[in-house]
Amino acid sequence: MNPNRTIGIIGGGQLARMLAIAAAELGFRINIYCPDRDCPAAQVANKTVLGNYDDNEKLVAFAKNIDVLTYEFENIDTKALEELEKIVDIRPSVTALKISQDRYTEKSYLNSLGIKTTQFYKIDGVSDIEKYLIKIKKPILIKTRRLGYDGKGQVLIRTQDDISEHFIGNKLSPSIAEEVLRFDKELSVIIVRGKEGNTKAFEPGENIHEHGILITTTLPSSISTALKNDATEIAKKIVSDLDYIGVMGVEFFLKGKELFVNEIAPRVHNSGHWTMDGSYSSQFQQHIRAITELPLLSTERHSDIVMYNLIGKVTSDLLEKELAKVYIYGKKVSRPGRKMGHVNLVKKRGAETPLL
Ligand code: AMP
Repeated sequence: MNPNRTIGIIGGGQLARMLAIAAAELGFRINIYCPDRDCPAAQVANKTVLGNYDDNEKLVAFAKNIDVLTYEFENIDTKALEELEKIVDIRPSVTALKISQDRYTEKSYLNSLGIKTTQFYKIDGVSDIEKYLIKIKKPILIKTRRLGYDGKGQVLIRTQDDISEHFIGNKLSPSIAEEVLRFDKELSVIIVRGKEGNTKAFEPGENIHEHGILITTTLPSSISTALKNDATEIAKKIVSDLDYIGVMGVEFFLKGKELFVNEIAPRVHNSGHWTMDGSYSSQFQQHIRAITELPLLSTERHSDIVMYNLIGKVTSDLLEKELAKVYIYGKKVSRPGRKMGHVNLVKKRGAETPLL
């Protein structure tokens, strides 16, 4: 794609902001579609088109003025995107988006490829929750099938009383029940695939979550090389099967030597922010390159690194560190649990001290 061309992004959050910066480095123009004039991406984009995500007419008008369309979050109406697909290339594909939008479809799809997930059950009503609690005889996690992120829309159920407290008399969205896995570690693989099927993966990072929110990603992970290769192969299988174009984040639970995929995200991913300073290329550069059909870069890691999310605040002792690379997303309002920025802390060559 010629550098004077325009990339459109649906969504104006921090992921769109960092994609826009990577696109600008290559000379592309970036148009953002989002409902908020002050969104993080608007501050660095060429143009921001204001519109709601369910306003098909505005979306169509937006698509007419761009050369390729991508998105930074999953909860977009795919019916609208199917219309846009007639006007402009959408990368990653609407098929990939559809699968990842619904936890039940996503896990069923992964299992159909022979990829392990935690045990899951379809929940259409409160009686299903009661049935599975009795059947499994262990605590279960109820997750909404759609619109859940950062642990939102999740409830842990241990007893009948928990069911009464959370669900009796309340409207229950279509959900899944999942076994609670006592995993040893959480990992993720950030993988990129180009139009011709060329694939490159960043080394798996080790993630720590609190209350469902990512706190840190650390590289290198202490897991064996064999397990790193296994996780990478699983991610490759998914993007190849989907004939995928762009970056995908694949989140794993590791228990013993078993890898379970928890989630796939058809976009750049928070657990890939370390690549901005720990690798020869960043996930944002790779995504822009993949969707504009430019050659992919090396995904090799050059430094030990910790990515630390700034959650609900833009302050941290880490900001004082000499090697801290600080990214603040420009959000006007800070709220508990809201991702306000992140810090990448690289280990100095030869340094003995731990990063955090
Ligand atoms: P999710 O929204 O599915 O990505 O879940 C957010 C986080 O909640 C995960 O990263 C885990 O830390 C935790 N979690 C989700 N599902 C399970 C599970 N089945 N067993 C144990 N922990 C889980």
